[in-house]
Amino acid sequence: MTKKYANYIPNDQHKIKEFKQEENIFEEISKELLNKSVLLKRKYLVIVLISIIISSVFGAYVYYFIYIANHDTVHLRSNFLIQNLRGDTVDTWIAWQKTDNALFHIHVQNSQYATKERTDAIIDVIMSQQKIELDDSIMHKGPEGTSSVYYVGWYGALNSIKNDTKFNIVKNIHFHIDDDVPTGDIVIILTNLSNPDGYSAYTNSIVDEVNHQILKSTITVYNIDKISLEDLKTLVRHELGHGFGLAHSTAPEDLMAPTITTNYPYISECDLDAIHHLYDGGESSKVVCEK
Ligand SMILES: [Zn+2]
Repeated sequence: MTKKYANYIPNDQHKIKEFKQEENIFEEISKELLNKSVLLKRKYLVIVLISIIISSVFGAYVYYFIYIANHDTVHLRSNFLIQNLRGDTVDTWIAWQKTDNALFHIHVQNSQYATKERTDAIIDVIMSQQKIELDDSIMHKGPEGTSSVYYVGWYGALNSIKNDTKFNIVKNIHFHIDDDVPTGDIVIILTNLSNPDGYSAYTNSIVDEVNHQILKSTITVYNIDKISLEDLKTLVRHELGHGFGLAHSTAPEDLMAPTITTNYPYISECDLDAIHHLYDGGESSKVVCEK
């Protein structure tokens, strides 16, 4: 496990250790019983063996439970699915409904943690227009020799989408660093606190569900002093995906996977197809991505 995980739970190792300790104690007791049983009757040996089997089964169950608990199920799901050729899907949620040409404000809260290096990294994730072409075989999307385009920054990514959607896709982004109480459509807060549920970063959006629109989105990046600049970029890129209305992808190599493991955490064509359909008013729809 690395801190790259968007929803990494640092307590896991501890939990597993705790569990192993319990298992060790149980084994100690079992050994003691085993010694006694040699002196006593053979049936005690059978009891010991049965308890070892039970402890193993219980152990496997506890491990499985911890495994399940590790995986993020917090984000709201919608009934809107986008599917790619491998059967992977990107869930979408709710769109922004900005008027045409309205500035979309993404602000970072000024604090001792918002250093120049970090804000520059965040600006890159927001404003970059850089494109990267990756071979589809690397991303398990297609045969070697075919490729797909990825975006480093959301500005470049969002502005590559056609202007033919029902709601305006966020394209006119303004970045600012705010003092104290940040204003902005999306606010990014860097902190050294830990998330109580163990997430490395978290997006909290206020929405008007009746009109199916996002009103404000707050992204918090936790344990900032333990995160490298590259990981900060990855986390903010992922969380901004939530901020613009995406939920999670089932493709493990996608930027929007609940646990980010890819070495290429860039905005994919599939993520942008999902944005396009979401902003076209799709509340209940299924679309097959080209890749
Ligand atoms: Zn997420």
